[in-house]
Amino acid sequence: MAKIKVAINGYGTIGKRVADAVMLQKDMEIIGVSKTRPNFETQMAVEKGFDVYTPAEKISGMEKAGIEVAGNIEDMAANADVVVDCTPGGLGKSNKAIYEKAGTKAIWQGGEDHDLAGCSFNAASNYTEALGRDFVRVVSCNTTGLCRVLTPLDKEFGVKKARVTLMRRAADPNDVKKGPINAIVPNPIRLPSHHGPDVKTVIPHMDIATTAVKLPTTLMHLHTLNIELEKDSNVEDVKDIFEQQSRVRFVGQGITSTAEIMELAKDLGRPRGDMWENCVWDESITMYEGELYFFQAIHQESDVIPENIDAIRAITELENDPLKSIAMTNKNMGI
Ligand code: NAD
Repeated sequence: MAKIKVAINGYGTIGKRVADAVMLQKDMEIIGVSKTRPNFETQMAVEKGFDVYTPAEKISGMEKAGIEVAGNIEDMAANADVVVDCTPGGLGKSNKAIYEKAGTKAIWQGGEDHDLAGCSFNAASNYTEALGRDFVRVVSCNTTGLCRVLTPLDKEFGVKKARVTLMRRAADPNDVKKGPINAIVPNPIRLPSHHGPDVKTVIPHMDIATTAVKLPTTLMHLHTLNIELEKDSNVEDVKDIFEQQSRVRFVGQGITSTAEIMELAKDLGRPRGDMWENCVWDESITMYEGELYFFQAIHQESDVIPENIDAIRAITELENDPLKSIAMTNKNMGI
């Protein structure tokens, strides 16, 4: 069977990881990636054997820096079955006309609004909603992390209401321009935060409200969840459900912080030290006065990567069964 041709528009933090994950699948391949500047990431893309595309006005700059350019973004879209748009948040919408003109399917990331694609995606929550669509949006790292635990809890026990505090990493580790360096920033200051409504783009009936702060760390986000369930349940019931989720990992054994989780990811030999699963402290899972509480950590740079692979399979209808796609993605990536 011919492989699905995938292009990555925006070979940055998310884009380069999606490209590597696509290359691990047997049913899809990378036909090109785009960069706007001839930096070390562009050079790495060349060394990996990817065709490099760039906006028409950037071609001469790339070529002056010794980067061979395969064409502009329109050419890349025309050569692909699916473009995974990983350009910086808010920029992706300007590319929609290019994809429409080329007749190419597209997947955007969480930095874009739900309305741009009209379908927000999380593999465990609403895979079948994306089947055969032209456009979907893989929700953000935080929303992905929330959907992965709320969906199974909701299916098994019914979630009456969820209240979540998100402690967010201020910037990615490679981002030298952002702060705070020494402060905690309520963000957004007006409550609740946008994360709850974002979960509702995937799970519309969920009663969820969220607040968020930014912390001077780059490693991971940390969520405190407080959930009222419809059905009577205990800690063991909840642990059983989480144990069945392939993208939820229990952490313990001396792991007391996000720093040790990142060390574990490196010890596991994960590429770039990535941790694709939600990391739930099983010790933190508590029933207090009939309500569920727990902590989970989310690796912002990588938890959405397997979801992008499943989204490619869903929109191209390579696989109609969510569980089969998830299992295939997990096996090929080593999750
Ligand atoms: P990034 O800045 O690391 O990478 C973006 C890439 O897009 C850069 O390599 C840049 O060269 C390229 N690019 C292509 N067209 C561009 C243009 N017109 N202008 C400027 N740059 C252009 O961004 P990222 O962190 O990978 O984020 C990409 C998307 O993924 C955003 O929607 C973001 O919200 C979302 N997301 C990011 C994270 C995260 O933690 N980094 C997590 C989940 C989702």
